[in-house]
Amino acid sequence: MKAEVVNTDLVVLGSGLAGLRAAIEFDKLSRGKYEVAVISKVQVMRSHSVAPEGGAAAVMREGDSFEQHAYDTVKGSDFLADQDAVQQFVMDAPGEIIQLEHWGMPWARDQEGNLLARSFGAHEVPRTYFAYDRTGFFLMKTLYDRALKGDNIRFYHEFFATAILANEGRFNGLLTMERATGNFVYFKAKALIVATGGVGRIYKYVTYSHTVTGDGLAMAYRAGIPLKDMEFIQWLPTTMIPYGIPATEALRGHGALLLNSDGERFMKKYAPRKMELAARDIVTRAIFTEISEGKGVEGPRGVKAVLLDTRPVGEERLKSIYKTFRENSIQFLGKDPLEEPIPVLPAAHYSMGGIHVMGTELSTTLKGVFAAGEVANVSLHGANRLGSNSLPACLVTGKWAGKSAFNYVMALDGELMDKPVEDIDKYVESSFNVVKKERGAVTPYEIRNKLQDVMEEKVGVFRNERDLMEAIKTIRDLKEASRDMYVRDRAFEYNLEWVHAHEVLNLLDLAEVIATSALYRKESRGAHFRQDFPSRDDGNFLKHSLASYTRDGPLVSYVPVTVTKWKPTERVY
Ligand SMILES: Cc1cc2nc3c(=O)[nH]c(=O)nc-3n(C[C@H](O)[C@H](O)[C@H](O)COP(=O)(O)OP(=O)(O)OC[C@H]3O[C@@H](n4cnc5c(N)ncnc54)[C@H](O)[C@@H]3O)c2cc1C
Repeated sequence: MKAEVVNTDLVVLGSGLAGLRAAIEFDKLSRGKYEVAVISKVQVMRSHSVAPEGGAAAVMREGDSFEQHAYDTVKGSDFLADQDAVQQFVMDAPGEIIQLEHWGMPWARDQEGNLLARSFGAHEVPRTYFAYDRTGFFLMKTLYDRALKGDNIRFYHEFFATAILANEGRFNGLLTMERATGNFVYFKAKALIVATGGVGRIYKYVTYSHTVTGDGLAMAYRAGIPLKDMEFIQWLPTTMIPYGIPATEALRGHGALLLNSDGERFMKKYAPRKMELAARDIVTRAIFTEISEGKGVEGPRGVKAVLLDTRPVGEERLKSIYKTFRENSIQFLGKDPLEEPIPVLPAAHYSMGGIHVMGTELSTTLKGVFAAGEVANVSLHGANRLGSNSLPACLVTGKWAGKSAFNYVMALDGELMDKPVEDIDKYVESSFNVVKKERGAVTPYEIRNKLQDVMEEKVGVFRNERDLMEAIKTIRDLKEASRDMYVRDRAFEYNLEWVHAHEVLNLLDLAEVIATSALYRKESRGAHFRQDFPSRDDGNFLKHSLASYTRDGPLVSYVPVTVTKWKPTERVY
């Protein structure tokens, strides 16, 4: 089987917020001179970025300052964020809110026409801007509309990428499989921006869409690019059981209360000042602690939970800006949150770790490859991301990456593109092999279910050495078993099982990285909590982990954290 070759200048892998913003910036700067191919395994508007409801944080009002937003972010990160990157990010975020407004984004406004801001966890002032309960959808729609008007942006919907190929230490092309036909297409280009989002579906109980399977992370890792701080996974404290539908943090910003089975506002014990609006990692651990101390309530399907009382938010808001939340609660839980508290539980929600990128250029160790959005570790979020900091981070890093890729492609101008690597066929063959096997011992679904179980049980919110070692052993056993994985569907057209088999192989590599990085971090910081090392240890671990691919599993090393202004102190809310 041979791959068709498409020549272009820049490939943007991913059409979520970060990918779209990157493509627009590159296209704007290149004024029609260079082509961009945007590749997505789903139709653009089915990218995960349509889901967010909460909003985007930025300094836009009197009484707020860049200094305050930066400090809130650094403190929220448990001092693992690189402070120079955070300072640049908070300064660039407001420009993106305004830019989106100019492109047609319908931000919510008050009667006087001012943008409405609301409170989010661990932000000291209200600075989260939103478009009613469809923020992600409207951001995506605005960017997609803008991208369609670009000079030279071409979309390849439903192309599934399987490998990043390099030649002599430089990016050469991206191998994809067109889902509609099962044919392979090789995008040969000068540069690549990876914008494939997080790794959420590695866990069982998540808020992520089914498409978020860490493909870009795994491809970059196997192409030799290190992954940074992968042990840090965020749980969103309040979601509806068993679906993981978020009860957005904005509700708590508008007065919703967390209660245990005694009707007690238990957050007063864990964060006396900020209460329900403490950082997410703190609220998540508080909920599980209450439940383990016998103060949980009976949730759907017998799952123990705590209660979220949204009645203080008020009828008007619950019927307008939280309409979807209310509808979901009635439809999926059979409870009207206007009338009674609803059971909630934390679910895996965000990957702080990602592709190791340099400074604000967002280049990687492989020449010509850049990364943006959730897949990139720009060290903005450190050990714990603040709610509503991801959407602006996707926009800002998308813009940075688009600009860097443009500068890179321009510098290459006149140089011929590398000739295709001779072993494209070999990559096609190995991508194809996954489907060729008619018989085998195990299906992708069986492996995925076992993987999600072990990640949930042993690499979850509370971790310890014994569990992590057992998890690594199970993951390696599953990797071994995956050699005999087979796909029952024999069709070439829209073979979902085939795609899924690839996703499972990606998840297996990433699970090993997450569990190994977690094992070596013998301290508790932000979202990474070790029962056997419950304190933060700045002396030994104020540093980023870097996991590099080897045939025998990840090799973990460390690089320093950049501290420009704020010396690490105890995080108290
Ligand atoms: C339910 C929910 C609500 C959230 N709410 C908020 C909020 O209110 N505020 C906030 O700041 N953050 C929020 N977040 C986080 C935020 O939504 C994400 O971090 C952000 O949308 C990620 O965008 P992205 O562009 O990096 O990736 P995505 O939107 O996930 O896009 C990834 C793209 O990569 C493509 N892709 C992936 N793999 C492949 C492959 N193998 N081949 C081809 N294409 C591929 C996909 O098709 C997709 O187009 C929320 C997250 C969740 C789960």
